[in-house]
Amino acid sequence: MSLAPVYHGPVRTRGLVIFDAVSVTAFALVSVWVATRLGAPSEGSIGWIGLGALAGLAAADLATGAIHWIGDRCFRVSTPWIGRVLIQPFREHHGDPAAITRHGFLEVTGNNALLLLPVLALMAWFAPVFGHTAGASFGLAFLGAFAAAAVLSNPIHRWAHMRRVPASVAFLQRHRILLSPAHHARHHQGAHRTHFCVVTGWMNPLIDGLGRFRKRKPALSAAERPRATGSELGRA
Ligand SMILES: [Zn+2]
Ligand SMILES: [Zn+2]
Repeated sequence: MSLAPVYHGPVRTRGLVIFDAVSVTAFALVSVWVATRLGAPSEGSIGWIGLGALAGLAAADLATGAIHWIGDRCFRVSTPWIGRVLIQPFREHHGDPAAITRHGFLEVTGNNALLLLPVLALMAWFAPVFGHTAGASFGLAFLGAFAAAAVLSNPIHRWAHMRRVPASVAFLQRHRILLSPAHHARHHQGAHRTHFCVVTGWMNPLIDGLGRFRKRKPALSAAERPRATGSELGRA
C-alpha cells in the first residue's frame, strides 16, 4: 500500500496528529535546505538528471510494491510487534478500499516523511557536487525523485481510489505518470495477488512476474522437504 503503511485505527490522538505534522514539516524544511545547497547543473548533466529522476520514480514504485507484497502475503494481524501496526493497515485496505480517501494528508504522509529524512540527509551531504559529474547528477536526481515519490506514495494511492481528483492529477494518471484508478483496480479485483505497486504502476510487471516465477518453482520431493520440528507443527 505504501512505503510505510498508515494505521487506520479508530482513534486518532492529538499526539499522533502532532507527530505527523512535525514529521511532514521537518521533511518540507529539510527539502528546501537541500535545494539551497544544490550546485548549479552543467549543460552536459541535464540528461543524467532526467535519467536519475526516472530511475528514482521507478525505484519508489518498486519499493511500494515490495512492501505491499510483504504486507499482503506475509505475517498476520496477530503477529507480535508488527501485526497491529504494520500488517493490519494492508488487510484493512482490502476490506474497505475507500477508507484511505477519508484520511487526511498529514495522516497518510507522516510516517513516510519521518522514514525518508535519512535520504534527504544523504542528499544534503552530496548536494554541493550536483551537476559537477554524471554520477553526482544521476545519483542526486535519483535520491530526490525517490524521496518525493515515496513520501507522496499514500496520497498517490489515495487519488487512485477517489472519484474526483484535481485536473493535473487526472492528466498524470491518464498518462501513466501516476498510478491510474483503472490500473490499481486490478489489485482490488479477486484475491489481491497482482498489481502491488502504488506510485506509477510501472514496476508491476516485474513484481507480478517474480510472483509467477515463485509459483512455478517445482514442489520439493518428500526427501528434499525440511523436516518440521515439534514447535513448528504446533503453529496455526
Ligand atoms: Zn493489497
Ligand atoms: Zn488500493
